[in-house]
Amino acid sequence: MEDLNPFRIAQKQLDETAAIMKLDAQAHAILREPMESLTVNIPVRMRNGSTKVFTGFRVHYNNARGPCKGGIRFHPEENLDTVKALSAWMTWKCALADIPLGGGKGGIICDTKKLNDFELENLTRAYVRAIYKFIGPEIDISAPDVYTTPQIMAWIVDEYSKIAGHNSFGAVTGKPLEVWGSQGRGDATAVGGMYVLREAAKYRKLNLKNARIAVQGFGNVGGYAVELAGKFFGSKIVAVSDSEGGVYDKKGLDYKKLVDVKKNKGKLQAYPGAEKISNAQLLELDVDVLIPAAMEDQITGKNADNIKTRILLEMANGPVTPDADKILAQHKIFGLPDFLVNSGGVVVSYFEWLQNQSGYYWEADEVYKRLDKIMTRSFKDVMAKQEEYSKDGTRISTRTAAYAIAVDRVAKAMKYRGWY
Ligand code: NAD
Repeated sequence: MEDLNPFRIAQKQLDETAAIMKLDAQAHAILREPMESLTVNIPVRMRNGSTKVFTGFRVHYNNARGPCKGGIRFHPEENLDTVKALSAWMTWKCALADIPLGGGKGGIICDTKKLNDFELENLTRAYVRAIYKFIGPEIDISAPDVYTTPQIMAWIVDEYSKIAGHNSFGAVTGKPLEVWGSQGRGDATAVGGMYVLREAAKYRKLNLKNARIAVQGFGNVGGYAVELAGKFFGSKIVAVSDSEGGVYDKKGLDYKKLVDVKKNKGKLQAYPGAEKISNAQLLELDVDVLIPAAMEDQITGKNADNIKTRILLEMANGPVTPDADKILAQHKIFGLPDFLVNSGGVVVSYFEWLQNQSGYYWEADEVYKRLDKIMTRSFKDVMAKQEEYSKDGTRISTRTAAYAIAVDRVAKAMKYRGWY
């Protein structure tokens, strides 16, 4: 049975890279575990006057290159190992993008669909009070992730500022513009992914106009990905899903109709005239580009043989397991790893933090121009590293190549700092 624990997967990916790049054993030992993990149990006053206890986490994986950076998830199945894995991937993501930040992540076990706004706000503020000493603009900066929103980030910045005794807008990113979020942060992850897709298509000589694309997930990342693939390249979105399942139409789905259906009927499967499919079926469609943009562990040793896409663009974190990676490589599927593809979010979060720290705000054009430069450079760095390590007919994966770049940067920073 394949081990689907995300943290053990993250460790396995690191181990494989360490062997290929002959990483110093001491650096490897430091990088296999997070620096520190915090678990908090927080009492929260509910609307009916009762008190309920929620469990939350915040993990600092590595800060050798800068303050920890990473989102917060509110999810019923959240657990410490997932948060640890995500904080490791944040470390590699920031290092690959070559921005001066380390890796962190947070989460609360909760079902946001069962909480009203009053309870959600109380929960968010209680979480900030519980982890206050562990976070801050110079220590660890949060951002939105699964089921957390700009409104939640605004509550976080407010609670943090109240405790600090002064406004501290750089304590969290992904805020609404009115409380000094950045232009372009809302769609940054998807836009960054589209820049990578543009480069990948050039590399593979795939014409993206009318290319068939399937997207799993229709949230912040997946929703924008659906919109932008049409807008940027004229691609055809043939399938989309949410947590309840998906819809398929080989002639293409209309973005505005998808948004209307999701808003008014609550689920994509209410889209008129399209075939209903499951999330599992969506992944196995014959398409040119497959974009997992929902949860981890979606393509595993069990279904990897059935994946038929030409390009696999990992917008979600950890959607492909190590067993699946090996099978996909045999099928010559061009996979682009999560911490390259979805780094646009953290890159613009970095821009937001910079703007907050300096008090000078950029126009949207400036944000996208700088984002494009970083995403394109990262893609090219990964392809060059793949060439460098692929000798004697053996080709390392783009994931291992991306890891090799990121791990080397973090290891060198630790070495200069005297950590080993
Ligand atoms: P979101 O909460 O906005 O949306 C999540 C989407 O996934 C929703 O459409 C939901 O219906 C769907 N979903 C949930 N469970 C599912 C399941 N079991 N099967 C299929 N679909 C399911 O979250 P998001 O911010 O869009 O994040 C999506 C992925 O992208 C996550 O892996 C996240 O870690 C990653 N990511 C997000 C950002 C960001 O800036 N938001 C940045 C980098 C990576």
